[in-house]
Amino acid sequence: MDVSSFSQSYKVARKNFLKACADASLNVKSHYHPLLGSEGEKLALDVALLGPPSASNLMVLSSGVHGVEGFCGSAIQIDHLRNNEWIERCQNQDLAVLFLHAINPYGFSWLRRVNEDNVDLNRNFINFNHPLPDNPDYRSIASLLLPQRQPPTLFSTLGLASYALRHGTKALQTAISRGQHSHPDGLFFAGKEPTWSNHQVRQIIQRLGRQCQRIGWIDIHTGLGPCGIGERIYKGRNNPDDIARARHWWGEKVTTNTDGTSSSTVLNGTLDLAVMEECSQAEYNGLTLEYGTKPGPTVLKALRADQWLQNHPNTDDALRLKIKRQLRDAFYIDTNTWKQQVLEQAREVIELTQRGLLKKNH
Ligand SMILES: [Zn+2]
Repeated sequence: MDVSSFSQSYKVARKNFLKACADASLNVKSHYHPLLGSEGEKLALDVALLGPPSASNLMVLSSGVHGVEGFCGSAIQIDHLRNNEWIERCQNQDLAVLFLHAINPYGFSWLRRVNEDNVDLNRNFINFNHPLPDNPDYRSIASLLLPQRQPPTLFSTLGLASYALRHGTKALQTAISRGQHSHPDGLFFAGKEPTWSNHQVRQIIQRLGRQCQRIGWIDIHTGLGPCGIGERIYKGRNNPDDIARARHWWGEKVTTNTDGTSSSTVLNGTLDLAVMEECSQAEYNGLTLEYGTKPGPTVLKALRADQWLQNHPNTDDALRLKIKRQLRDAFYIDTNTWKQQVLEQAREVIELTQRGLLKKNH
């Protein structure tokens, strides 16, 4: 399988995405970000629609919600745009395919999982008119997660290990990754207001997602689970009929955050909430396609180091480069084997999504 759809930087990924859209005769609407990228390039959330806006069925393929994880999602999008046979098949159906390239372009370009405000976008889709949810568990380990020293002291690492011993490793993972509003310079910070990307996504789906009857949304991520395996994590309403439908579409191996089957845990403020809110007329079928990269402790170590770097802007270049490299390697496995595994599984999941959407007798 051709893995040339993978890029080595946001700048090249964007160029390849725009080229693939042009070659497939798709118009692109670019939502420009107010800041520039790490190479001085423009940053944008690029939007392309294949098929008629009036189609009853809308498939959405989104990448880069978590910045640096965009290497993977971008490649999957480009791989499909370059596949003429697949495009032709889409065109003869009551179907439109919406590509959202680099929802968090800042994090993609600057090699961060979060955005320009240190916000984890996939925790930011909450209702900010209500009081912000508290995460006391995060507060209790915040100083252990991000001690003054880098690499972290043995004391802090043992402190986290002891939390896991007392409460279980899943509880530790939830405390860290659920999302928190109390530490703007901490990990998995969910923000104090809707981010730039949150606004753009809502605008886009208000424009393009309100005419359809069904939505099948594949949001591509990396960093959790066994290396090279694309976990199909259910996203949507926590009700048995919807979960059963997801398993009918994508197979029994669909996992959920709520019943402990997923390598992810219960999260606040994820993207699917905004889609269900903005496009309430449609039946929503959502999946986080989450590809494993490195073991969990390695990924967490990379995230802690990157946040430390962010909080210590005067760090020398050698250490900065090392930490950035470590972060990229934690979310993007730059080998042919991994890339092939990624593309093969994505093709299958996208095929199944299409079939699910077009199934008769809804
Ligand atoms: Zn992610």
